[in-house]
Amino acid sequence: MELDSIPTNEADGPTPRAGAGSVAPGRPLEDLGHAELCAWLDARGLPAYRADQIRLWLFRKHATAFDGMTDVPRELRQALGREFVVGSLVVQQQSHSTDGTVKYLFRLRDGAVVETVYIPEPDRVTLCVSTQAGCGLGCTFCATARMGLKRNLTQAEIVDQVLEAQRGCPEDTRISNLVFMGMGEPLANYEATRGALEVITDARSGMGISPRKITVSTVGLLPQMRRLMEETRVNLAISLHSVREELRSELMPVNRKYSVEQLLECCRSLPVPRRKRITFEYLLLGGVNDGATDAAELAARLRGIRCKVNLIPFNPHEGSGYRRPPDHVIERFGESLRARRIQAHVRRPRGDDIQAACGQLYHAATVGPGDGPVRPAVNAGSPAGGGFSADPVGG
Ligand code: SAH
Repeated sequence: MELDSIPTNEADGPTPRAGAGSVAPGRPLEDLGHAELCAWLDARGLPAYRADQIRLWLFRKHATAFDGMTDVPRELRQALGREFVVGSLVVQQQSHSTDGTVKYLFRLRDGAVVETVYIPEPDRVTLCVSTQAGCGLGCTFCATARMGLKRNLTQAEIVDQVLEAQRGCPEDTRISNLVFMGMGEPLANYEATRGALEVITDARSGMGISPRKITVSTVGLLPQMRRLMEETRVNLAISLHSVREELRSELMPVNRKYSVEQLLECCRSLPVPRRKRITFEYLLLGGVNDGATDAAELAARLRGIRCKVNLIPFNPHEGSGYRRPPDHVIERFGESLRARRIQAHVRRPRGDDIQAACGQLYHAATVGPGDGPVRPAVNAGSPAGGGFSADPVGG
């Protein structure tokens, strides 16, 4: 498949500002939480309300420099400029799908590249963000797992994926939904993910995206899962893929640490708000986990958990050794769950012509600043998905 790669200044769809160039040295202000910014101001004898002003410029008005913050005193702007910068990544490349999906390649300060997928739909605009460069979990269906973990993203690098994609949107378009389903495991990078969520959801001076419209997806790191449910109001999605211990351990080595048994037990006791459900993602791998018995066992094990199941047909990539089941098998699997009163939907892939569909995000080898554009490996796999059309999980 041809990658429809275009330079960043296209008129249709998102048009981010950066394009080429590099990230300025210094600590990005997006790395600071509200409390930390207040403390910084306080240490300089400045009132806390300045924090809100500054944050509104950053997160609501998408300022790219301190001098544009016109209601902030000049001295304060200068002080900020001496210590901080705005921005932690630049757009290296963006690819437009025929279905409107846009895949961004963002280059970070150390040359690492992460991917973010912008998914417009009639009733919402979803952004699929990454939380790590690479991934250390080694799921066998995921080609990029072979890359291993390069590093965790910082809070600013997570936040800036959203800011940069929003800057590129047409005036009347707002990113309404977020899914943490790009590269990496969000809960293996808990602090930065949690910090980013604070900035993103803060209705007073952050981006003000409702936690109801945000879904964090995890392989099931139990302690962090519990923390996330206690500390935030975002929706939780868990990549399950099998309820058989042996098979799940084969597909997802993390199952040797946190078994299906422990995972489901944890789900039963999680503080999930009344009107919300946990989403289980179930990747359908032809001849591996797509049989009638798999569906029956899955339904039986999920009984009593307020949940729904998203069925994700495998998006093939070279050398994976797995295949996508035929459509009738996918449909039958869904029907079998519904017949057992488990809510189940099949996810349509978005942006698969630009390798942005779930599981098609790839991360080419790390490039140094100033290197040429990253050439996507056609059909290369991903550390962890992307390109869902996002369904709010709760409600
Ligand atoms: N680490 C988190 C976040 C990744 S979310 C997690 O595992 O949940 C992305 C989803 O895409 C996960 O459910 C993952 O299992 C799935 N995925 C990975 N590779 C895929 C592929 N080739 N085809 C379809 N889905 C895939």
